[in-house]
Amino acid sequence: TSLEQTLLGAIRTIPDYPRPGVMFRDITTLLGNARAFRRTIDELVHPHAGAKIDQVAGIEARGFILGGAIAHQMSAGFVPIRKKGKLPHETVRIAYSLEYGLDEMEMHKDAVKAGEKVILVDDLIATGGTAEAAVKLLRQIGADIVAACFIVDLPELGGRKKLEALGVDVRTLIS
Ligand code: IMP
Repeated sequence: TSLEQTLLGAIRTIPDYPRPGVMFRDITTLLGNARAFRRTIDELVHPHAGAKIDQVAGIEARGFILGGAIAHQMSAGFVPIRKKGKLPHETVRIAYSLEYGLDEMEMHKDAVKAGEKVILVDDLIATGGTAEAAVKLLRQIGADIVAACFIVDLPELGGRKKLEALGVDVRTLIS
């Protein structure tokens, strides 16, 4: 079966979650499917085979699961980008807008050294607000963002275009 079929078949859609009218793409079923999980990680790593990637930055929480596996396979480090108040050392912080209201994310100031090559990872890109904030945080501490990777793109919400407008190479596996 094609990659697209494998992944589409492994992702569950929950109607009206977390609110009426929202179709939530639940990737826990993909994570629990050994074959689909392995293919996902392989596909996200493959374009960077042979490239020297220093760090994989994952967005809390599902970006941690994917990012850890990708970092291991790339022999790179892993950097968590977290919701505010969770990291113990000195951080850089950025506010970003969600559908309803504002939130803040942060990362350790010393998590990436200036000029290091970084891949950003999350499970899904919708409006791109979350990933855009992560890109800005990483650049603030001097990261060289090689690509931003997601399993799922919701293209009608414009996230990919938003990141591309910032000069970020975007890679997604299914729309
Ligand atoms: P954005 O900021 O609008 O691009 O939303 C993306 C963020 O919200 C990511 O961290 C996703 O994990 C999460 N998210 C939004 N919609 C979904 C969904 O349908 N399934 C899983 N995660 C979602």
